[in-house]
Amino acid sequence: MSSTNLKPGGEIDAYCTSCKADRTHRIIALDRDGKTPKKVECLSCKGHHLFRLTQAQKDAAAAHKRASRGDKSAPAARPRGGGAKSHAVATKKREEDQAASWERAVVGKDYAAFKPYRIDLSFAKNDLVRHSKFGDGVVVTVLDPAKVEVLFRDGPRMLAQARTAS
Ligand SMILES: [Zn+2]
Repeated sequence: MSSTNLKPGGEIDAYCTSCKADRTHRIIALDRDGKTPKKVECLSCKGHHLFRLTQAQKDAAAAHKRASRGDKSAPAARPRGGGAKSHAVATKKREEDQAASWERAVVGKDYAAFKPYRIDLSFAKNDLVRHSKFGDGVVVTVLDPAKVEVLFRDGPRMLAQARTAS
């Protein structure tokens, strides 16, 4: 764990060569780069020694190395659940973006600017659509000649187009 405000007198977790365990240490001196502790004092045994990463940090670094070499036996670096959370955040962000795009495209537009949606009509990107069920929307993507993606207030929907009504 590298921190930017390391300074002599500050405390840091490190491996103690005397205790042979991870201990809290007080920083005596920083390395020349001013970012890495060089000499530390163990708060448990009061011994002075060069700074060493904690066993936990070394294990993590070794696991990371194994993982980056593609060793399948290495423990997974990312805990389960973290991915799901960031996915939820991404989804929320996308929904907010869509709501903003929908507002920009649709709100305040003239009634006559909207094309009533009918399955036999063809639509182009940015066409304004009035759907009897979903309300007002804007064409965001023409997926293929028979399918368009329309962004409505509650999100995008796939609609069929250019189908001959039978
Ligand atoms: Zn010690």
